[in-house]
Amino acid sequence: MKDCRAAVITAHNQPLEILRVPIPQPLEPGALLVRIAASTLCGTDVHRWHGSLDTDSLPMITGHEPCGYVEEINGKRTDILGNPVKRGDRVVWSYVACGSCYYCSVALQPCICPGRASWGHNRSDRYPYLLGSCAEYMYVPPPCLIIKVPDAVSSASAAAAACAYRTVMHGFDRLGAIKSHETVVIQGSGPLGNFATAVARDHGAKQVLVIGAPAARLEVTKRMGADAVLNFEAVMDPKDRRQWVRDRTGGRGADIVIQVANNLATPEGLTLLRDGGRFVHIGAGGNGNIEARKLPQEMTFHTIRSGEPRHWLQAIDFLASRRGTFPFEEMISASYTLDQVNEAMRAMASFEVVKAAINFS
Ligand SMILES: [Zn+2]
Ligand SMILES: [Zn+2]
Repeated sequence: MKDCRAAVITAHNQPLEILRVPIPQPLEPGALLVRIAASTLCGTDVHRWHGSLDTDSLPMITGHEPCGYVEEINGKRTDILGNPVKRGDRVVWSYVACGSCYYCSVALQPCICPGRASWGHNRSDRYPYLLGSCAEYMYVPPPCLIIKVPDAVSSASAAAAACAYRTVMHGFDRLGAIKSHETVVIQGSGPLGNFATAVARDHGAKQVLVIGAPAARLEVTKRMGADAVLNFEAVMDPKDRRQWVRDRTGGRGADIVIQVANNLATPEGLTLLRDGGRFVHIGAGGNGNIEARKLPQEMTFHTIRSGEPRHWLQAIDFLASRRGTFPFEEMISASYTLDQVNEAMRAMASFEVVKAAINFS
């Protein structure tokens, strides 16, 4: 059996090890083997490394944001648009929901399917071994939908579309149309916040206001289309932040608030929303308590988890078609080799970088 190199978490909080892991034969009809071109890292990878998501068992290959070249296909496959998938195509691929549970088949909310498969937390000592993206190869199970990546989109940006950007697209999908008189406030200036800034601008908001940190990230946020940014490290009092939003919204608060920081930001985010406004809650981690009696009147609250296959496609399409308008590559702020994976994980854990990419030659 052939094998390849992979960044494996063998113990929580300990350095990842570069180990040789078997390359599985794609035995199931429709399965693919993909040679990874780039894998971006996400906050979730850091949580899994630290062991704060206690459902995971070790050893596992870190990473769930892959983009790569089709190396092998068992039988014939088509992509999400019905085009044939060929050896050598550069692709990303969706997660898999079971298709038959209540959430998949009745509620049509496959992101909360209890039988959902996703990557970056699967045991690397059991077939099909390669279900994490910080590895030279990945196994793509047959039900995954395939999205081809146009030449205009870099492998690292496409990889980021496989988690961060498609989750943002899911949020905008559930939010619905943004009217041309509406103000959007975005809480967070990481990869999700900066991508959400571009999408809100593109979808026709009157103004996009972003509250985030640190100052270096907010410079990218401005180039992604923010009309104004507020550094919460410099403006420490939430009352002053609320006033900053009120001053720009006729005293009412924002029509739409998109929280892409973490749960701690949600209680403050609700104070930034006008009565009757719409709130999109994406950022997880931490905890925040909401006082029910202080909720804005007649508001709508959306919570977002992950994305459906079409959101992978929407993210890739957005990166390709809006590349002349928004400097997407600035969001991938640091590039590493597989051997430097520990350095990359530490940089993500300390928020030194917006998004770290592992590039494979
Ligand atoms: Zn992620
Ligand atoms: Zn299901």
